[in-house]
Amino acid sequence: MTDHRRITGRLVIATHNPGKLAEMRELLSPYGIDVVSAAELALDEPEETGKTFQANARIKAIAAANATQLPAFADDSGLCIDALDGAPGIFSARWAGPMKDFNTAMARIERLLQERDVHEPEQRRAYFVSALCVAWPDGHLEEVEARVDGTLVWPPRGDAGFGYDPAFLPDGHTRTFGEMTSIEKHGLPPHGLGLSHRAKAFVQLAKMCLR
Ligand code: IMP
Repeated sequence: MTDHRRITGRLVIATHNPGKLAEMRELLSPYGIDVVSAAELALDEPEETGKTFQANARIKAIAAANATQLPAFADDSGLCIDALDGAPGIFSARWAGPMKDFNTAMARIERLLQERDVHEPEQRRAYFVSALCVAWPDGHLEEVEARVDGTLVWPPRGDAGFGYDPAFLPDGHTRTFGEMTSIEKHGLPPHGLGLSHRAKAFVQLAKMCLR
């Protein structure tokens, strides 16, 4: 069995995205870890030059670990749409533009789907991916990745969550992520089902690095 390094003491959450930060804080809260965010420490946001979710998670975690000399936890995530050959994928945040306008991004996706004659739910398959990386200042890394499958709905439904949540209907459910409470979307057992991509990845990471 591979030896994994445990997270103890203070941990930097390497994100400037308030939606993600809130979810990551909730996921970490049972473990009694002293959490501080990259935004609170006024860290620069590194350029995400990787070609995969995992590569970008690594870039963010390593940059924060180097800048703070603390272990740092990063997520890179996004929405992949089968009918759009996996787009927006690693460019999910960028499709919302500098104003981070996800209504426009969701409308752009819908326009592209209509242009490709994609109407039926079975043609509108999509999944969210979350790659998590914890980087230590000495260069040690722990990494996991998970996804949640579903269907894109139009018009978007609900105003909970963030990003593309209102357009995403996870398999086996009748409400979009935008219509779910945070516990329903990413709560872990016994309170939730560990439904979201980030929750699933976090469960793997917790088994390896938290207890
Ligand atoms: P990044 O990981 O900072 O590059 O940004 C990922 C982007 O993917 C976010 O800004 C959202 O647009 C989208 N995304 C990732 N996870 C979720 C989620 O749980 N719900 C909705 N949108 C998400």
